[in-house]
Amino acid sequence: MKLLHPFSASPYRSDDLQLLRDADQATAARLLADCPVMQAEMGETVSDPQRARLYVVLSGALSVATDTRTGMADGSVSKVLPGESVGEQSVLDEEASLLTITALERSEVLVVEADRLWQLIDASNGVARNLLRLLSFRIRAANAQLRRRQKLGEFYRQLSMVDGLTGLQNRAWLNDVLPSLVANAHETQRPLSLIMIDIDHFKRFNDTHGHLQGDHALRTAARVLSGALRPSDFAVRYGGEEMMVILPDTSDTVASGVAQRLCERMRQAVVFENTQQMPLPHITASFGVACLGAGQDEQDLIAAADGALYRAKEGGRDRIAVHCPA
Ligand code: GH3
Ligand code: MG
Ligand code: MG
Repeated sequence: MKLLHPFSASPYRSDDLQLLRDADQATAARLLADCPVMQAEMGETVSDPQRARLYVVLSGALSVATDTRTGMADGSVSKVLPGESVGEQSVLDEEASLLTITALERSEVLVVEADRLWQLIDASNGVARNLLRLLSFRIRAANAQLRRRQKLGEFYRQLSMVDGLTGLQNRAWLNDVLPSLVANAHETQRPLSLIMIDIDHFKRFNDTHGHLQGDHALRTAARVLSGALRPSDFAVRYGGEEMMVILPDTSDTVASGVAQRLCERMRQAVVFENTQQMPLPHITASFGVACLGAGQDEQDLIAAADGALYRAKEGGRDRIAVHCPA
């Protein structure tokens, strides 16, 4: 940066600067008189990583990379316009500035060293008030940004728990949630039922109609499940053409009724061909029902439902079977 002149020789006045608004202007002008006004060319770096100092834009514009104006190092860029300043936080906490400040165009910048800013604060309540207001604004902005980021993080977390093809919960969701559903059932001594579902002869369906139509049938099956459940129940794509329904607070008798209903709806569901909207042959599925037993964990519950499913297949498919505790 090129030194132009001291502030007293510049055409700017101290009350042009936001930080000095409402301050005793005579004192402010006296303290700023010998502070240097520097000229930065477009793209030139203004900040000195070794020094804590305040930069006040007199003309042009600066960009602050990594938004440490709001205390957030997130790669976002903010713009500092004439009358505005940057760097006061590093002066106040005496940490060297981590900001990269560059000129967006040819700019005139007033550089105020840390000790001079403190003299201004000591000399004028107005400056202290402006600084507090500025910091409070930046904390608010930082908090808002943090909340937005948390929401976004939660959104992506939810997204990663959903199966892309069917829209059902996926295996990651199951691993995350089923253990706590099991723990909760034991704690509250409420029943928890699980239905394991496998589409019948699905390999044949794929071989006959193609994989794309198979995908379509899977989506139809998923719709049957999620359309027939209470809001407190969950439908999961366990893998391939295997799905699962989890029914909290539900006995095996009630769960068997649910499985029976799902089995019928599956048989009746119409699978449309992807391209020409021609109906394809119906699909059926087999259902294995189990209810959480005393001392069982989630693996035991899944194994029990899987065992029942195996019996439903053995029994001729397109039916339900219920796990009988030994
Ligand atoms: P069963 O009645 O004994 O369950 O017979 P099946 O043919 O359904 O069983 P198998 O396990 O032999 O075949 C499962 C088939 O599911 C094979 C596989 O290609 C198909 N499949 C698994 N995931 C997908 C998928 O995402 N899309 C499609 N289109 N097919 C899938
Ligand atoms: Mg299978
Ligand atoms: Mg199958």
